[in-house]
Amino acid sequence: MFTSIKKFMAQGSSSQYDEETNRRIIVVNLFAAVGMSVTFFLGLTALGSNDYPLAIILLVSSAIFALSQQIQVRNKTAKGRVIAMSLLLGCLMMLMAILTITGGSENTGPLWIYTVPPVTMFFAGFQRGLLATVLFTLLICILLFMPNDALLLASYTMAFKSRLILSFMTVTFLSAFYEYSRQKSYDTAVYLSEQFERQAQHDPLTHLLNRRGVQQRLDREEGRSKRNEQAFCVALADIDRFKSVNDKYGHKGGDEVLKRVSQLFNNRLRKHDTVARWGGEEFLFIFPETSEHQAALVVEEIRAILEDSPMVLDGKTFKVTSSFGICEVSKDVELDKALSLADQAMYRAKSDGRNRVFCASNL
Ligand code: GH3
Ligand code: MG
Ligand code: MG
Repeated sequence: MFTSIKKFMAQGSSSQYDEETNRRIIVVNLFAAVGMSVTFFLGLTALGSNDYPLAIILLVSSAIFALSQQIQVRNKTAKGRVIAMSLLLGCLMMLMAILTITGGSENTGPLWIYTVPPVTMFFAGFQRGLLATVLFTLLICILLFMPNDALLLASYTMAFKSRLILSFMTVTFLSAFYEYSRQKSYDTAVYLSEQFERQAQHDPLTHLLNRRGVQQRLDREEGRSKRNEQAFCVALADIDRFKSVNDKYGHKGGDEVLKRVSQLFNNRLRKHDTVARWGGEEFLFIFPETSEHQAALVVEEIRAILEDSPMVLDGKTFKVTSSFGICEVSKDVELDKALSLADQAMYRAKSDGRNRVFCASNL
């Protein structure tokens, strides 16, 4: 029983949607179910007491509530959700207006209008919800305060009408305030989780993607390369004799050099290329839709730029160079294998004298 209620509530929601969309889908299901049952029950009661106009209004409303829920479940687009929501709200407001005009059962009809503010805020959010509720309040005021009760079939005392509107406005204010606070906390939670995600994927020193962050990009590139049957390249760079930089200029000086090198690498990249901090003084490059030959030309240019960009620390000018290993990822060489071959190529560049580029195809 409990699981089938849960299943009904979740109808139309999906893990692909964001939390806010899923929440609205569930609220529409919940409201449609409650609205449908209440109006159906009250419709039957009205039928029992031979109040046929009221019975018809309630039963038609019950059918519209059921219909809007079905529209949302069957039409899984944003447009379908907006149609379902507008139909529900429109039907709810019309029903409330009719109950106010006719007085419903023994003049208790207007008491139901308090369902409008929370439901409207839930569905339409703070701004649109507040606007819709204000328009609804105007409609009810016109109905209630038209001279000589021209628009009313039921009769209410002036005290009842004014208290009804004042208490309705209080509920509107409270619902709007609640929805506003809820939306603000939701936005803050989303912002914080995006910040945490960003921090978890970036290196605080160089601001480049870290190993975790670049892994996602590698996986994405591998998937794309498989779909398009087009190779891409990875390259590993390791700064030459970096330990001696640390020895001469201290760890802080070494960090400064890492930052400068990262900037130089990053500035030279083409729009779709990526550079990440792979480890201590090692960097990983990704060159999408690029052959080993083309990548070697780009990397050679980067190597030369680093060599020709002297570093200045403690008033001293010195050169920093790096060794590079390149490997193509293709249907014959999988990503993990390519990374290991790029590493081997980089070590060949080191053993061949450093400050050079070595391609895995020459290993
Ligand atoms: P080569 O690669 O040319 O063989 O020589 P190397 O001196 O660069 O080689 P090695 O891998 O032995 O040393 C790398 C050094 O990089 C050791 C480590 O202290 C330093 N290092 C790693 N990460 C950082 C960092 O974040 N900041 C600083 N300042 N130094 C780092
Ligand atoms: Mg190293
Ligand atoms: Mg090194």
